[in-house]
Amino acid sequence: MSWSPAIARFGETVVRLHWSFLLFLTWIALSALLGAGMAAAISGVVFFSLLFACVVLHEFGHILAARRYGVRTPEVLLLPIGGVSRLERMPEEPRQEIVIALAGPLVSFLIGLVLLAALGFPAPDPTAGFDSLGAILLQLGWLNIVLGAFNLLPAFPMDGGRVLRAVLASRLGHARGTRLAANAGQAVAIVFGMVGLLSGNFILLLIAVFIFLAASSEAGAAQMRSATLGLTVADFMITEFESVHVDAPVSAAAEALIRTSQKEFPVVDGQGRLRGGLARDAIVKAMHRDPSMPVAEAMASDIPVVTPQHNADELVRYLQASQPMVIACRADGHPVGVVTWENMLEYMMVHPVQDASARRPAG
Ligand code: ZN
Repeated sequence: MSWSPAIARFGETVVRLHWSFLLFLTWIALSALLGAGMAAAISGVVFFSLLFACVVLHEFGHILAARRYGVRTPEVLLLPIGGVSRLERMPEEPRQEIVIALAGPLVSFLIGLVLLAALGFPAPDPTAGFDSLGAILLQLGWLNIVLGAFNLLPAFPMDGGRVLRAVLASRLGHARGTRLAANAGQAVAIVFGMVGLLSGNFILLLIAVFIFLAASSEAGAAQMRSATLGLTVADFMITEFESVHVDAPVSAAAEALIRTSQKEFPVVDGQGRLRGGLARDAIVKAMHRDPSMPVAEAMASDIPVVTPQHNADELVRYLQASQPMVIACRADGHPVGVVTWENMLEYMMVHPVQDASARRPAG
């Protein structure tokens, strides 16, 4: 389900289209084609493509602001309900987060104002459709204003919610601020969801579900990050584990999967140095194709590697980016520990969160 082809690259940032976005464009084209003919299908696709180009520009507002603070910005993902920029990290400095959050809506307002100014500031007209260039530009102009305003709603993870979070975080600490902003986001999502349901607005309902899930996972991650402050990878890692050999057949890894309670295995070469990682899903998939396939072909070679002395909050960031495992290695490349969400959660269960801010280094 993670199939998202890259369509463009600007500097270090890759723009990807989520598969559901292509499905959405196809649906627009087909329903217009069947309902109103070829011309309507073409103008519909042109309109939505231009609208999403505006969304990409909005995202690049965030990205250019983030780069100013030295934050790397590897990816923009386009979903039918909007864009998501992946930043390597959020600056801890609340003021920087506010600038990054506001830069996107600012771009949307600018695009809207420029388009509407070029047309002589016409009133919004939802019935104008988009069958002429003038009509398309009119709709785009107003939609960019709406997009900018909508994103300023104080509902985390939308831009206004990030501003709210940064303001709260500067007073109440990162974890509490995020939790409150996330609760506000969930409340707004529930209102959206109800309005969407009652009015039969499918897109609004979709946005509500998206905001609700994103707000929940952001709150969880913030709690996890604050709980891990001051701890190192060594506090979390599994130190008794089996590795599989890079040249062994996948069936040997499958045997280890059954024999042990591990679901993630470091893959090592003849000298015991780390070459990659093999998770249960990959083992199962490879077994269905060819049990004699060498582990080297089935493994993931981009598993994040850390040292046992690394800060633990980095683990949260990696695992949140849906990596199945993080492997801790000694300086000579030998794996000495494995970390998964599961054992991070286990750690949290046996060490109930005390006041994590007590561990936060001064300043
Ligand atoms: Zn935004």
